[in-house]
Amino acid sequence: MNYNTILQEVFQEVKTLPTIGNVSTSIPELTKVDPDKFGIHLITIGGEDFGIGDSNEKFSIQSVSKALTVALAFSFLDEKIWERVGVEPSGSAFNSLVQLEYEKGIPRNPFINAGALVIADMLVTHLKNPKEDLLDFIRMISGSPTIDFNLKVAQSEKETRFRNAALANFLKSFGNIENDVETVLDFYFHQCSIEMTCKELAHSFFFFANEGITKSGKQVLTKSQVKRLNALMQTCGFYDESGEFTYKVGLPGKSGIGGGIAALYPKKFVVATWSPRLNEKGNSELGMNTLELLTTKTGMSIF
Ligand code: GLN
Repeated sequence: MNYNTILQEVFQEVKTLPTIGNVSTSIPELTKVDPDKFGIHLITIGGEDFGIGDSNEKFSIQSVSKALTVALAFSFLDEKIWERVGVEPSGSAFNSLVQLEYEKGIPRNPFINAGALVIADMLVTHLKNPKEDLLDFIRMISGSPTIDFNLKVAQSEKETRFRNAALANFLKSFGNIENDVETVLDFYFHQCSIEMTCKELAHSFFFFANEGITKSGKQVLTKSQVKRLNALMQTCGFYDESGEFTYKVGLPGKSGIGGGIAALYPKKFVVATWSPRLNEKGNSELGMNTLELLTTKTGMSIF
């Protein structure tokens, strides 16, 4: 498989598509991003790297971080995490409040904001220095010691936190947040503010494609745990567009409102895309087009 040629073809083809969507407006700091940035990075299971476009420029990974925080929580709490968060697609927007009421404070899955806040609470409880330990974990799995929070983005999200604050308080009222609500929100805003390049993001997700083992050879999850998280990304990674992403792309993946997507084909490759223009579901329009073309041209979807 000549990934280099395929990436070139996909990149050129996607660039001719009509411009749809715009950058996220929910976090003021993110509106400063150039909407026309576009990068792709693919790493094969053998460790070969292929990048194109703005693939070496940092962007806000936002909700893509939810796949990494659930992996970290899963690594030390194992199946216990499912006592406080479910594994069902929500069919609702990422920041929706409605299901929490009749599901008694148990979020449908760890990728909607409510679920990610419960996972954040677990990490705040179990990590000694939650924010630093999360960064260390992400630096370790990515092999990139310079990965950091963007404090301006974290602050901007804090200033406009009303909906996430509502979710966290609602969860707390059901007893599904153990720590101080503001502490959990602060951790969550920092995790969302993490910046990575497409290359760093693809490397961070390597263990999802490699039976739980990072590129540097460290086992962070078991083969069975990774199978479960990949299944969750497949069914829930794109919120109420997870069915469409599965239909068009056919890979497990996770998106974020910074315009990033990480997706993977187990035992074959990980690919990360970045294009900040979002569709109405909050997923990167060009990122989805890119991955659809990639799996079509390579014939490599898991289905
Ligand atoms: N930080 C964003 C929020 O909580 C993340 C949302 C996303 O990327 N879908 O609203």
